[in-house]
Formats: sequence, structure tokens, C-alpha cells
Amino acid sequence: MMELEVAVARILATLPPPVSERVPLREAAGRVLAKTISAPMDLPHFTNSAMDGYAVRAADVTTANAAAPVNLRLAGRIPAGENFGGELASGECLRIFTGSPLPHGADAVVMQEDTHLSPERTGEVLICDKVRPGENVRPQGDDVCRGTTLTATGDVLGPANISLLAAVGVREADVGRRPTVGLLATGSELREAGEPLGPGQIYESNRAALGPLIACAGGVPQCFPLVPDTLAATQTALERAFAGCDLVVTSGGVSVGEMDFVKTAFENLGGTLEFWKVAMRPGKPFVFGRWGEKFLFGLPGNPVSAFVTFLLLVRPALWRWQGARAVGLPAHPAVLGEPVANAGDRRHFMRVRVDEAGWVFSAGRQASHALASLAAANGLLNLPPGVALAAGAPVTVLRWD
Ligand code: AMP
Ligand code: MG
Repeated sequence: MMELEVAVARILATLPPPVSERVPLREAAGRVLAKTISAPMDLPHFTNSAMDGYAVRAADVTTANAAAPVNLRLAGRIPAGENFGGELASGECLRIFTGSPLPHGADAVVMQEDTHLSPERTGEVLICDKVRPGENVRPQGDDVCRGTTLTATGDVLGPANISLLAAVGVREADVGRRPTVGLLATGSELREAGEPLGPGQIYESNRAALGPLIACAGGVPQCFPLVPDTLAATQTALERAFAGCDLVVTSGGVSVGEMDFVKTAFENLGGTLEFWKVAMRPGKPFVFGRWGEKFLFGLPGNPVSAFVTFLLLVRPALWRWQGARAVGLPAHPAVLGEPVANAGDRRHFMRVRVDEAGWVFSAGRQASHALASLAAANGLLNLPPGVALAAGAPVTVLRWD
């Protein structure tokens, strides 16, 4: 039986290098950047006003206050998107708007709220407050300097990264191709929702969870029909899935029973089993296999086992397949709200609920078929064998999307 860290490292080391493709920037959200992008220009691109107001020379208004305003001659206006051709002379101001280029000669902007139009003399503005040089001005390059790395190979692009790239004129990005992930559920007892249940039959629920989890990890799930527990049906289903997909995720049929056909069927097709069984609870019978440049992730059938093994063993593989650098679930610090213990001999990934104040409680029954506690959970607590922790102990909780 393999330790989880070893199993994950083994899977990641087996994956092929990512394949990249170029996509329009608007389609790059959630994708893994394949090639570092540096800023092709400064941001802001030109020095501009941070306020609606008047561009001035700060030295002209050093004495300005509400009781004794300074009078400046209004020399024109600069709407956003336009430029002032000339140079602002001493004693003058220019009407300016947020984002308008700062005119030559000006070094500050007095906000509109600190000014009045002169009641007696048109074409003059009363400045009622002084400004420091640079005040209410956004200098060229103060956000991003040309040549700076904006986002690096292996980053997952989010809306904010994309906004930054768009702001410097980037139109396309090289990103890792998304894997097509075949999704099979094995088990003669399984029925589709809507079908009547005969004796001993249950509704299939793993594909419903795994499909969205695959999509959240950047994969494209492709759902296949239910697979009854025969060697022939399992083999045919695997063959079809491997023909059309980059990776295949199965649930069920990987335990020790004589009705568990996934491993044999996979080997009969020419696949190689890389390892079987991981020292974790839930999820021990997980199997990983290789079929040329394609891979099998055989998850146990119990719904919680399938969910947890996906998060800890398959999710990292999907991200790394696309070239992502960070592939583990995000770990958040929290504090135990009640004592917990693992008396078993395998690492327990306990379903927990972290409340808004950061206290951690068991999400309920921890058996590997118990879906209600999974639905109530928002994290997993990694409890090594033999560990007992008291209430108040600091812990880290693995969270998922
Ligand atoms: P197995 O891993 O095939 O031995 O299945 C373990 C348990 O999980 C059994 O109780 C199965 O009925 C159940 N199970 C297997 N696959 C699914 C599934 N896709 N949806 C819901 N329950 C399942
Ligand atoms: Mg089964």
C-alpha cells in the first residue's frame, strides 16, 4: 500500500509534458498559461489625472485655501481620450477629467470639489485648496513597468490576470490544452435517475459529482453509459473511453471482489497498472494505470471514496496535465472546535465543516458511503494514523472549489 504523497508524486512524474494552444484572451479564464507574458508597455501608458478637476502647477497654488482662493485663468479642457497640444503656463489651469492625459507644464490636479468658477470673471477658476506636486496624478508606469512579468508559465489565469493582460493590449494567450476525461461508472446495481429501482438497485451518483469536479479542474468531462459488472462489458467500455479521451476516470470495480473487473479489463486491453491501493481513508482501493500516453484513474465506488480520491489524486493530475505549477488543494489554517482522533492505521481525510470564524467541526458520519456529511462538509482534515488532537489545536483544512 502506497503513501498518498508517494502516489501523487508517482502520478505527476508519469504524465506527459503539457501541449499548448493559442486562444483569444476572452477564452483564457481558468486556463493554465503555457508561456510567460511580460508587459509590452507601461501601465498607465501615459501620465493622467486621477480626478475630475483642474490641472495646475502646484507652485501656483501653494497659498490657496477656502478663505483666500487663488485665481487661475482657464486655458481649455481635456476630455478623456484627447490630448492638450500646448503647455500649461504659470497662472493657468486646464479643465481635466479622470483618465485625461496630464498636459505638459502641469504637475498636479485640484479636485473639482476644491474649486469654484469665478462668479465675476468668466474664464477664471478659484482654487480653494493647495496641492502637492503629483497629487491626484497617476504617473506613467506606476502600476506596471514595461518588461515586467505579468503572469508566468504554470499560472492559472483568473479574471484579474486577464484584465491586466487586456489592459496592456494582449489579445491571445498560449495555454495548456484541456484534457478530455472519460467518466465511467461500473456496477450492475446502478440505475440512472428516472428509472424505477428493482430490488438491490441504487441510483448512480458518482458521475454527477465527478463531472463538475473535472470541469472545475480544467478538464472536459465526457460521460459514458453505466457499465454492468462483467469483464466483457468493462473491457468494451474502457476501450471506447480510451479511444475518445485523454484520460479515463472510472468508479467502482477496483476492490478485491470477484465482481471487480476494472483492473483485469484494463490489463487485457494492454494497459499497465502503475499502482493499486493508497494508505488513506476513505479511498484505499484507488488504482492508477497507463495506456501509452493515456491514463486510467480507477476510483473506488463508494461515493465519498470516489469524491475524496478524485480531489487528492486525480485533480492534481488534471492540473499538471495542463501545465499548472500549483496542483494541490488549497490548505487553510483553522482551529479545531472539538477533539478529533484517528485510531486507524491509515491517514484519515475527515469531512469537516469550517465555520465563518475559522472553527472546525466534524461534518457528521465518516463512513465512506455517507453522502449527507460530504454535502455538509466544506473541507477535509488530514489526520495521520495514531493522531489525537484536542479542541483548540491549530490545523490546516483542505478546501475545494
Ligand atoms: P465498489 O467499489 O464497486 O465495490 O462499490 C462500493 C460501493 O459503492 C457499493 O455499495 C456500490 O453500490 C457503491 N457504488 C459504486 N458505484 C457507485 C456509483 N456510481 N454511485 C453510487 N454508488 C456507487
Ligand atoms: Mg461495484
